[in-house]
Amino acid sequence: KQTVAIDLPRLVQEVLALYVLKSGVKFKANYEAAAGLFIEGDPISIRQVLHNLIKNALEAIETQGLIEINLHRVQKNSTDFIEIALYDDGPGIKEEQIEKIFEPYVTTKAKGTGLGLAIVKKIIEEHGGAIWIDTRRKVGAGFIIQLPACNA
Ligand code: ADP
Ligand code: MG
Repeated sequence: KQTVAIDLPRLVQEVLALYVLKSGVKFKANYEAAAGLFIEGDPISIRQVLHNLIKNALEAIETQGLIEINLHRVQKNSTDFIEIALYDDGPGIKEEQIEKIFEPYVTTKAKGTGLGLAIVKKIIEEHGGAIWIDTRRKVGAGFIIQLPACNA
């Protein structure tokens, strides 16, 4: 695995470009262009994270909906993090599901592997970050990722 500076807005645009042709689903990426939204890590792994989350959102939405990705810088204990918030307007995640959702083989899908989110969590933690479900969200599902910012 390589470790390089990753321009997150650019990576998000690249990944979204592969999905925009999917009919019925709209994609919206929000970020401040000048914010310096770089992290350090393996671009292939971070790409995998985005794919797994978007795939789940698309499967939740089924036919018509919106997937939104917000990027911004946050400060925590005087350290800079880049926050990736990914929202969809599908049926959402049930409260009783939240505790185990990142565990392997946990799925509600007939042909699901239950590995997508376990892989996502592993990759994020390998990059010194954290992921959790945005429980303030009342419509659809929301995932929040924080990764250490790279100031290169
Ligand atoms: P899989 O997609 O194979 O089921 P995942 O680990 O990717 O495995 O997801 C685990 C479970 O989490 C899914 O089966 C689904 O119940 C729930 N889930 C994940 N993302 C969403 C989402 N965006 N909206 C609703 N439920 C979700
Ligand atoms: Mg999945």
